[in-house]
Amino acid sequence: ATMPPLLCAIATAGRHGVLVKSALAMERLGEIDAVALDKTGTLTEGAPEVTAVRPVPGSGLDEGALLVLAASAEHPSEHPLARAVVAAARARGLRFAPAADFTAKPGHGVSAVVDGHVITVGRPRPPADVASRGGSDAGVVALPASHAEADAGAAGRPVPRTEADDGTVVLVARDGTPVGTLALTDRLRPGAPRTVAALAALTGASPALLTGDSPRAAARVATATGITDVRAGLLPQDKVDAVLQLADRNVLFVGDGVNDAPALAAAHAGIAMGRAGSDLALETADAVVVRDELAAIPAAVRLSRAARRLVA
Ligand code: ADP
Ligand code: MG
Repeated sequence: ATMPPLLCAIATAGRHGVLVKSALAMERLGEIDAVALDKTGTLTEGAPEVTAVRPVPGSGLDEGALLVLAASAEHPSEHPLARAVVAAARARGLRFAPAADFTAKPGHGVSAVVDGHVITVGRPRPPADVASRGGSDAGVVALPASHAEADAGAAGRPVPRTEADDGTVVLVARDGTPVGTLALTDRLRPGAPRTVAALAALTGASPALLTGDSPRAAARVATATGITDVRAGLLPQDKVDAVLQLADRNVLFVGDGVNDAPALAAAHAGIAMGRAGSDLALETADAVVVRDELAAIPAAVRLSRAARRLVA
């Protein structure tokens, strides 16, 4: 028997580095006419580095002690930011303290008991605050004392932030009190600008950037990739809402994290980044980019369209 065109397209896409899970998934890829992409681990490499460690004056912590607290709490997490914090502590030869009661909250951060204190590491201000400011990014970060408080939408106490931070800033709190911030930057994937341009040409619509990170960190990546539609400070459900907002469009969503899984499921087609990707993202997506080569994404869309022309 001759192979049906969609199966041939799956085989060819595989050689380009995209594992498409079914003929139906292959077909959907050809139907997309809008694209939304996650930032961290998707447009960027997902291997950030800690660039600054800043204890809050009066916290009684020096840089090393702050990093030990953060790394001890982040140790069990798979999140790219967590791996960066752990790597920074290791690079300084610091010894971790044992952590108990670890919990991770997608899109927020982590919490664990270290030396008898509840340590949280996570986003520097509550989502409600971001929404009420319409996503603008002032020089002051309102700090949630805990994830619970962030959920309640209550703003914590403000801490001044230096103008130089255009990467990711995470907050470390001890028993609900901010004790410091860590700044992290992640490199753009080399193929990102070209891929964004190719997807814009294929769909006739400019791709959107959807991220849980701050507007400032999002803007840096958007500028570098030529994206103008930027939505920052999003929680996992906000990414779903953003995808569903484009209701008259067949949206392709590309992401890597646990926080991206709901949007991958809600989109017309979902593609996960394989290397840095969380298991949940890989399981939820219609296709997986196995070698993290972004150019494979427009290639798969083109292959699907060519196959569908043969089927029709
Ligand atoms: P993105 O949408 O950019 O992939 P996430 O939704 O995973 O990002 O995270 C959004 C924000 O939540 C991060 O920018 C960070 O402030 C915070 N965060 C999430 N997980 C962690 C973690 N393990 N450690 C520190 N901060 C985290
Ligand atoms: Mg991500």
